[in-house]
Amino acid sequence: ETETHYFTIDEGLIQNIFKPRNEYSHKGTFGKLAIVGGNYGKIGAAVLSVKAALKSGAGLVFALSPKCGYDILQTTSPEAMFIEGGENYIESIEVDQEVVLGIGPGLGTHDKTEESLINFLKNCSSPMILDADALNIISKDTFYIKLIPKNSIITPHPKEFERLFGTTKDAFERTDLAIQKAMEHTLYIVLKDHHTQIITPDGNVFFNITGNSGLAKGGSGDILTGILTSLLAQGYSSENTAILGVWLHGKSADFAAEKHSKESMQPTDVIKELETTFLYIN
Ligand code: AMP
Ligand code: MG
Repeated sequence: ETETHYFTIDEGLIQNIFKPRNEYSHKGTFGKLAIVGGNYGKIGAAVLSVKAALKSGAGLVFALSPKCGYDILQTTSPEAMFIEGGENYIESIEVDQEVVLGIGPGLGTHDKTEESLINFLKNCSSPMILDADALNIISKDTFYIKLIPKNSIITPHPKEFERLFGTTKDAFERTDLAIQKAMEHTLYIVLKDHHTQIITPDGNVFFNITGNSGLAKGGSGDILTGILTSLLAQGYSSENTAILGVWLHGKSADFAAEKHSKESMQPTDVIKELETTFLYIN
């Protein structure tokens, strides 16, 4: 039996994890990623996630989305390349093996999307980020969770967590259940909340203390997925990706709140403040 250790994510830990950018580099140095998401009416979620990924240091960013998102994505995020995965929702997921994936923002849970995600997972063994509707699809069948590659990061909010693993009385019970599930499936579970917790496959818990209620708005989670996918693509371990990514997201939200107020700040402002946060830790 392993024993759970509890850590608070402080700036000392962040400084240890964060790697300043190597000047002797090219775009290949910083990894390739694809955000897989969007369906008719929810292309915005993919846009936010792609923009956050671009703003977090990745070398090459793809958006794998349905055709109905083509103009929107190419216009709002010209730095990202488009891969068509269907007409109005995703029906196929095909990417080169070295591309790191963040799957879920605005994905929808259409049967064809489910089929394509499950087929993809069956043939993939690299760690990835799974969020939002990717988790809602995984929740449809108890067998699906076993298909997630080891050391992947899943980012459920409390409702998504309960859909995946069953109902819980309170946050304490969720933490205990998450420890059990992270160990059982060798996954990093980012339990999103006011104080987000990262549960590791060793059964350890990292508490994050950045972030604020200005994040309690649609789109905040999509940004986190973009940041995490970007860090994983740049070569951070899954553990360091989860810790640094959650901290960066919250810290950028704190800068956004100072500038715009918790009420008025938008997920787009949080993306913008990633630059302040990177300047702060560099
Ligand atoms: P989602 O529900 O997927 O959009 O994710 C929401 C994101 O915003 C997560 O990263 C949460 O941790 C964060 N968040 C939501 N509400 C709060 C809050 N009241 N305080 C701090 N962070 C929050
Ligand atoms: Mg979400």
